[in-house]
Amino acid sequence: MTTKAKPLFAGIDLGGTNFVAALGDADGLLVAEEKQATAAHEGPAAVLDRIAGTIERLAAAAGRAPSAVGLGVPGLVDFASGETRFLPNLPTQWRGVPVAGVLSARLGCPVHLLNDARAATLGESMFGHGRGDRTMVLFTLGTGVGGGVVVEGRLRLGPLGAAGEIGHICVQPGGLLCGCGSRGCLETVVSGPALTAEGVRLVLSGNAPLLHEICGGDIARVSPEKLGEAARAGDPGARAVLDRAGGLLGMAAADLVLALHPDLIVLGGGVASLDELLIEPMRRALTAHVRMFSADGVRIARSQLGERAGVYGGVAVAMRGGLMHKGRDS
Ligand SMILES: [Zn+2]
Repeated sequence: MTTKAKPLFAGIDLGGTNFVAALGDADGLLVAEEKQATAAHEGPAAVLDRIAGTIERLAAAAGRAPSAVGLGVPGLVDFASGETRFLPNLPTQWRGVPVAGVLSARLGCPVHLLNDARAATLGESMFGHGRGDRTMVLFTLGTGVGGGVVVEGRLRLGPLGAAGEIGHICVQPGGLLCGCGSRGCLETVVSGPALTAEGVRLVLSGNAPLLHEICGGDIARVSPEKLGEAARAGDPGARAVLDRAGGLLGMAAADLVLALHPDLIVLGGGVASLDELLIEPMRRALTAHVRMFSADGVRIARSQLGERAGVYGGVAVAMRGGLMHKGRDS
């Protein structure tokens, strides 16, 4: 007796340094996966050639070609044309590169693009903590702060595909200048560089003895992970910095709870490894700022898919891609 093989979908998480490609089925089972250097300095054509070659190799190993491809990219995309609009962290910034067209012609299947944080949100909602939740918010805490919002089971994209830029909610009016051009965005207080800068300040001002010791007095070794290590060891300065950052993250989350009352808030990205050091002050801020109703039922959790959220997101985008191509919510 033979059973018909399930269709496979290819997911790609494109980053400035590496990309990860995987083949998965509709249940979220990844059957093949490969990580490659992006080598973005070689230009878009070379990067796309390497991505296509990787998918062909994975398909050969799995014995089946993917039915569709979903690609999460670090920036803005044009759904209708399948072109990248602006990838700020890649050389040449990829303005108007016909990514979907090039890959689709080579691989012979539909290719759909999406911002990487939105892709991760869709991945988490379909294959991670969000399964079964109707409304979910995800923050990606890394070099920048991105995110996405799922409302009643649909990823909210909006007319430009930009809905979910929750890292740019203002939490400090008149605060530090953000990369987006505004001031006091959440990104300026809880991104990796923002926390590192606070850690450096602590070490230089002598207000974090354990962090100073952990870094051997070398400010070049300060990182969010080292801040976390110092806070867990009882460093009051490190603890205060993370309490403040988590509290401001909770303030942004309170806005989202008041607007959407999600079932779940997920923290992804490298900084999410700080886990309860951010989640506890976040929870306190939610209680303090959501007074109209109880926010106690809103779960806050670190991403279940972890660093694979992006590639799972690519698989999810491939599965749901047809709707997004028209620029609608999916
Ligand atoms: Zn901003």
